[in-house]
Amino acid sequence: MIQKIKPNIWQIGFKTFSTYVYLLKLDEKNILIDTGSRSAREELVESLNKLKLKPGYIDIILMTHNHWDHTENLDLFKKAKVYGHKKGFPNDKTIIDIDKLKIKEIKVIKTPGHSPGDICFYMPEEKILFSGDVLFHKGYIGRTDFPSSLPEKMQESLEKLKELDYDILLPGHGVE
Ligand SMILES: [Zn+2]
Repeated sequence: MIQKIKPNIWQIGFKTFSTYVYLLKLDEKNILIDTGSRSAREELVESLNKLKLKPGYIDIILMTHNHWDHTENLDLFKKAKVYGHKKGFPNDKTIIDIDKLKIKEIKVIKTPGHSPGDICFYMPEEKILFSGDVLFHKGYIGRTDFPSSLPEKMQESLEKLKELDYDILLPGHGVE
């Protein structure tokens, strides 16, 4: 299911698993935030087709964190530059360090807790926060009971998000 958030921003949701992928068009670049799970692969490709895109047309992928339900379709996007937090992808040479990202509309907010390399993406002009698995609708917050979680960091990360001025929260999962 595709939901248009802004003229250049879409949310792509799936029947099979409740992760969200986001498509942004900025400066003639096609940007994805996360890629969903393997079970959502066909739906993801279909959704991109509906938006007149093929996987090869995606220029940049921004990873909110390294959990399988967000990463499993990365291999579809062979031409994309993939950015993520080095703490999330320590041994993956195909991931470019998020500190090297230069997209003026997008601010990187590092929010460890749910995993060591969680990142939120903030668009101050649009007042949009892509919150990955850190913060969900209705005030739900991400789990911090995974082996790699850093529960002691979560509160500090949530405080960082509280300081941001946003109207639209776009999380990595829907909440029933
Ligand atoms: Zn996660």
